Amino acid sequence: MGRDTGGKCKQCRREGEKLFLKGDRCYSRSCAMSSRSRPPGEGPKKRRPRRSQYLLHLREKQKARRIYGVREKQFRNYMAEAKRRKGVTGEALLILLERRFDNLVYRAGFASSRQQARQMVVHGHLEVNGRASNVPSRLLKDGDVVSIKEGRRSRVKVIIEANQGREVPTWLEKNADAMKFQLVSTPNVEQIGLSIATNLIVEFYSR
Ligand code: SF4
Repeated sequence: MGRDTGGKCKQCRREGEKLFLKGDRCYSRSCAMSSRSRPPGEGPKKRRPRRSQYLLHLREKQKARRIYGVREKQFRNYMAEAKRRKGVTGEALLILLERRFDNLVYRAGFASSRQQARQMVVHGHLEVNGRASNVPSRLLKDGDVVSIKEGRRSRVKVIIEANQGREVPTWLEKNADAMKFQLVSTPNVEQIGLSIATNLIVEFYSR
């Protein structure tokens, strides 16, 4: 199972909640979850089947994977890494995902969605600690500074300005004028603030 390339709104409808995959549109009235909250392919009269334990675990895993835009194989690798870490595995998993380069670019408001952040990274618009980096899955460390490359700033400026109203998490320090931000400290699960039941994901991979 690769990355989800189908309709983003369809993915939200599948999971039955807003996953915020489309940037500004997710906050507007044209969000598909405002009017059509049924899973794709399911008509108005059809009753949703009762969910088995397996299905609950699967859906939670898919939700997390879709939010962060991670392929199945990569997600498994994160899970394996989380198991090797001390502490609660589910929490370690979420923290690993949160430290991804593309995720932090999105969190800092340098992109409207994680997908856009990923494209910006892949297209080489960004630097980490003054050195070019185009790997969206790179895990950033406390103290790392991300900046927009000289020469790419005019292209990215408009995106940063469009996202200026979005709240930046306390664990990131952003300097919009200098077009850079720093990962001040790795967030904990409460600070990440996503409604992902990581224990269900751990159960899924423990079968
Ligand atoms: Fe999901 Fe709504 Fe955004 Fe579409 S617009 S991706 S349904 S949150």
